[in-house]
Amino acid sequence: MAANKIEERIDRLHAGGIIDMHFDLPMDLYEKRGRSNVLAAEFLPEFKTGGMGIIGAAIYIEDRYLPDGGLQIGLDQIARLYTEADQSQRCVVCRTHEEISRALESKKIGFVITMEGVEPLGDDLDLLRAFYELGVRAIGLTHARTNAAGHGGIFAADGSSPEGLTPFGRDLVCECERLGIIVDLAHINPAGFKEIVDLTTKPLIVSHTNARKFYDVERNISDEQIKMIGERRGVIGINSVLVSPDQKTSTLDCYVDHIEHIGDLIGIDCVGIGFDFFEFIYRQWPESKKKWMAEKLTTPHFIPDLTNHSHARNLTRKLIERGFGDDDIAKILRGNWLRIFKEQDTL
Ligand SMILES: [Zn+2]
Repeated sequence: MAANKIEERIDRLHAGGIIDMHFDLPMDLYEKRGRSNVLAAEFLPEFKTGGMGIIGAAIYIEDRYLPDGGLQIGLDQIARLYTEADQSQRCVVCRTHEEISRALESKKIGFVITMEGVEPLGDDLDLLRAFYELGVRAIGLTHARTNAAGHGGIFAADGSSPEGLTPFGRDLVCECERLGIIVDLAHINPAGFKEIVDLTTKPLIVSHTNARKFYDVERNISDEQIKMIGERRGVIGINSVLVSPDQKTSTLDCYVDHIEHIGDLIGIDCVGIGFDFFEFIYRQWPESKKKWMAEKLTTPHFIPDLTNHSHARNLTRKLIERGFGDDDIAKILRGNWLRIFKEQDTL
């Protein structure tokens, strides 16, 4: 196919807006809280180039703020997101399926607020309702560390706690389902994963992860776990930073291998995007912090032509090159996440 025909096809596929269910935006906005228009100046151009529609904006609390700062900084991150969205005039926080549809139709960028680790809640179940009222619509119980709800999977083939959720973690999961907050299984350890599957009935998501088949660490998910999500007609968002243990094999083709593998196991209706772009944060870190991350977690392997939202077209071009049809590409880029939003009673 001629190059200009392919670009036209990408334009068509991107016209409805792309959905990425994991982006650490609120944390960066919080760190830059002394400035205004950070979103418009530093992020909006890339969102526009990539044809982004909806972005899962994840509240995450760095270790250095814990244990005392979780609630305050969680609230501040949400506050920054609303303020910056207003200032940009092109972005809006979405709390319902209708607001998501409206954002996509009006070509605005819609944020769905998510939480990566429930540290802002401490061990107070009542606060879940408060964060719901502020717009939080998807929650992953943990990041890599242990908290009041459960234990994170580690960046090794085994070795995390054999324990599942705490009683608080179980209560939270049930309350999320009752309120209409999507339960996100990204990062949770294998025992916690299984427990959440058993406790819930609605479609479950893994907002940003990869298949252990290609990168065998607990933080990714096994074929058995992929099938559990498939049985519930959930969606798995493919992460761009953990596609392979080696930098040289961390390529766009490998990213598509993950899509294909999960599609082969449970159907293309269960695959979405959860880019987890954080090269922009990583590059701001001093060497000492990068070293700390390499020792404590892992060294991220960024895919050279998929490091930020302006690169989304590269993925679509690769999907076309690999023989995916338009219907399947549209489901991966947008349609599958939209189905999940629609199936939540309150979203
Ligand atoms: Zn994460």
